[in-house]
Amino acid sequence: MHVILLGPPGAGKGTQAGQIVAATGLVHVATGDMFRENVRGGTELGLLAKQFMDRGELVPDEVTIGMLRERMDRPDAAAGALLDGFPRTVQQAHALDAALAERDQLVDIVLLIDVPADAVRARLGGRWTCPNDGAVYHQTNNPPQVAGHCDKDGAELIQRDDDQPAAIDRRLIAYEEQTLPLIAFYDQAGTLVRIDGARALNDVTTDLLAALPGPALAGGNH
Ligand code: ADP
Ligand code: ADP
Repeated sequence: MHVILLGPPGAGKGTQAGQIVAATGLVHVATGDMFRENVRGGTELGLLAKQFMDRGELVPDEVTIGMLRERMDRPDAAAGALLDGFPRTVQQAHALDAALAERDQLVDIVLLIDVPADAVRARLGGRWTCPNDGAVYHQTNNPPQVAGHCDKDGAELIQRDDDQPAAIDRRLIAYEEQTLPLIAFYDQAGTLVRIDGARALNDVTTDLLAALPGPALAGGNH
C-alpha cells in the first residue's frame, strides 16, 4: 500500500502523517525530514540540500529521487509507505511510478490536503518543531504541553530557518509552479482524493482516515 500526502507547505501533512501511521502502521517517509537529518549530520547530501532549503526552493530532482529510491529499497518499506512531501514535481511522480512498477506496485491513493495560501502562512509562521524527532506544534493551534518543549522527548523546540516570511513566500511559489501540476496528474490517474484541510485538526484526520482503502486500516503495511 502506497499512500501519498500532497498539499502546500504548512497544510498539515506531517501532523496528519502521525495520525495515519498510528492507524495503519505504514512507514512514514518524509523527504523534508530526511534532508533535515542530513543537514544535522553534516553529510554531503545535507550540505547540498541546505542551500536550496534555506532559499525555499526545491532540491534538484535527481538528488531527491536518488535519496527516495534508496529509502524505498530498505526492508521496512518493502510492502508500502506513507509518502509525505514526495513527489513534488511531475518528474518525481514519473520516477516514483517507475520505481514502483519495478516491484509490481502502484500508488494506491493520493490524499490532497487543500488549504488556502493565507491560512498556510499563519500556520507556518507559528510552527515550532522538535529538532530531534521532527514533531510539529503550533504556538496557538496545537501547543505543546510545556511551552517551548517537545511532548515526546522534552527537547527545546526550534523555528525552522525556512519558516521565515521570505522563505515561506518562495516555498508557496515553488508549490504553485512545480507541485500543483501533480493534482491534474493524479486526478487523471484516478487516485486523487481532495480533503478540505482548512478545518480543525481532528476533523481533517477523520476525513483522511475515511478516505483510505479498507485494507490500509487493517494494517496495510503487511
Ligand atoms: P506540512 O507538513 O504540510 O508542512 P505541518 O504538519 O508541519 O504541515 O503543519 C504546519 C503547522 O500548522 C504546524 O504548526 C501545525 O501544528 C499546524 N497545523 C496542522 N494542521 C492544522 C489544522 N488543521 N489547523 C490548524 N493548524 C494546523
Ligand atoms: P514543508 O512541508 O513545510 O514544505 P518539507 O519538510 O516537506 O516542508 O520540506 C522542506 C524543504 O525540503 C523543501 O522546501 C525543499 O527545499 C526540500 N524538499 C523536501 N521534499 C522535497 C522534494 N520532494 N523535492 C524537492 N525538495 C524537497
